[in-house]
Amino acid sequence: MPHNAYLSALGLENWQLREAPPLEQVTTTSTDWDALKARVAHCTACALHQGRTQAVFGVGNRHPKLMIIGEAPGFYEDQQGEPFVGRAGQLLTAMLRAIGLQRQDVFIANILKCRPPNNRDPQVSEVSACTPFLTQQIALLQPQQLLAVGRIAAQFLLQQKTSLESLRQKQHAYGDSQIPLLVTYHPAYLLRNPADKAKAWQDWKLLARLLS
Ligand code: SF4
Repeated sequence: MPHNAYLSALGLENWQLREAPPLEQVTTTSTDWDALKARVAHCTACALHQGRTQAVFGVGNRHPKLMIIGEAPGFYEDQQGEPFVGRAGQLLTAMLRAIGLQRQDVFIANILKCRPPNNRDPQVSEVSACTPFLTQQIALLQPQQLLAVGRIAAQFLLQQKTSLESLRQKQHAYGDSQIPLLVTYHPAYLLRNPADKAKAWQDWKLLARLLS
């Protein structure tokens, strides 16, 4: 299916990025963070709460240089309550190590906090309901750099409908806060398409240069 037709079929042309408040207006206290975490844990704002084992808030450093954002929890993430576990998570951890970072150095989250059934793509209503949590996380964490992994996360964060391929290898800016944002392949995609690992490595080398 042509790319735009695919987006249209999903209704993604209606995605709207809900901006977080300006960073200078955000008070980063543990209370804010804990309250947000509790809201996510008990959220019933979309139908995905009915099938979850648990919501997957995100994990990692509270003062990260780098925040990695993927699409949604899968089976193992739903079971363990942590994003990017299982084989895709192991590959992400390996790529981080390759540029001298550990998982605990970064913060890792998804645009959806609950697992879509059978790992299907997120629906518009789910994205609309859930992404205010992500924008609040970004505002509270204030990372120096964002890394969107996969097309769904990249197109949502950038509010662009261009292909992932055309979004790679350039520094973008996220929303009004203008936090630098790079785009690369989702590790689950790389497991299915190992030939693209070489291109992904170019993205991670660019990320390492920009972080240093
Ligand atoms: Fe709430 Fe997001 Fe889970 Fe939907 S996916 S129930 S909006 S936390």
